[in-house]
Amino acid sequence: MMSSMNNEVKDMGQYDVIIIGAGPGGMTAALYTQRANLKTLMLEKAAPGGKMMSTYEVENYTGLGKVTGFEISEKMFNHTQELGVEYKYGDVVEIKDLGELKELHTSSNEIYKAKAVIIATGTIPRGTNAPGESRLTGRGVSWCAICDGAFFKDLDIVVVGGGNSAIEEATYLTKMVKHITVVNILPTLQADAKAVDQAKATGKMDFKLGYEIVSFDGEDKLESVKIRHAETKEETDIKCDGAFVFIGHLPETTLVKDLGITNKWGYIQVNEKMHTNIPGIFGIGDVIEKDLRQIITAASDGSIAAVEVSKYIETLRK
Ligand SMILES: Cc1cc2nc3c(=O)[nH]c(=O)nc-3n(C[C@H](O)[C@H](O)[C@H](O)COP(=O)(O)OP(=O)(O)OC[C@H]3O[C@@H](n4cnc5c(N)ncnc54)[C@H](O)[C@@H]3O)c2cc1C
Repeated sequence: MMSSMNNEVKDMGQYDVIIIGAGPGGMTAALYTQRANLKTLMLEKAAPGGKMMSTYEVENYTGLGKVTGFEISEKMFNHTQELGVEYKYGDVVEIKDLGELKELHTSSNEIYKAKAVIIATGTIPRGTNAPGESRLTGRGVSWCAICDGAFFKDLDIVVVGGGNSAIEEATYLTKMVKHITVVNILPTLQADAKAVDQAKATGKMDFKLGYEIVSFDGEDKLESVKIRHAETKEETDIKCDGAFVFIGHLPETTLVKDLGITNKWGYIQVNEKMHTNIPGIFGIGDVIEKDLRQIITAASDGSIAAVEVSKYIETLRK
């Protein structure tokens, strides 16, 4: 009885446009479509803000100065709510293209219909795939400094990665932890000079450059990370209580895997107006093929897509 009730498909109604993902891209698109008087729904499977919610500080969004990731998420979400954007929890697992209507299927067996869909699902952190990484995730291995940093107060940790995200997050972590060993596979850091200078000025970091991760080790919780020098093959165990992995991201596109709108790396391909090759389906933000993945570029994509959605829906009315 119970299982047949759970399998029941729920018709959740029809909208002009549904935006999947409430990061900066999705929230900006939503406020533009709402102001264009389109019946708009924003579906989000976690919390509004997207990756901004797991970023400590942002200081490159024009006009806002230095804000925390939480503050900018809250400001953007409140803005959508002041304008009356409908927001719901929903983990979209599939989009079906039925021509002038699109069907969105969620993991809770709900079906939403829309004339247009904007995909703003962003990216998820990439793992090293080293043994022990998934087993010890949540037991010392983490992907989010702002979420988990406080667990490592006065302890020794490893940060994996050498780009801006890794170095800036490591600098943030120095406020809590005792010492950080930064392990980067390349012989140099890719982060910009300002970020590297700030990191070094903390006096709490040392750098193992040109090393790959061999394994994350420990019984019930992380106890050490084994690294190997890329050239000499010399192996070292770094004793630590935590390890944060910041080595890039992968696109969240399993929901469109059958639509043929992604490139070989899984990123959604769009033209400069954010159209995919399927009329009525648009892609924006970090999930699309692009050079610069930032809050401001995601927001900019969102505004462009919203205007294109309005024009597209107008063509359906003719
Ligand atoms: C550690 C770190 C620090 C950063 N610092 C900065 C910075 O200082 N300045 C800056 O400009 N940028 C920074 N960035 C980059 C910036 O966060 C991203 O470029 C931006 O958040 C992308 O926005 P988005 O809307 O495309 O996607 P995201 O922010 O990734 O949001 C996507 C949303 O979609 C939701 N979602 C995914 N799949 C589904 C689904 N199937 N159904 C429903 N919802 C779904 C997710 O839960 C998420 O909330 C940083 C990134 C990281 C990781």
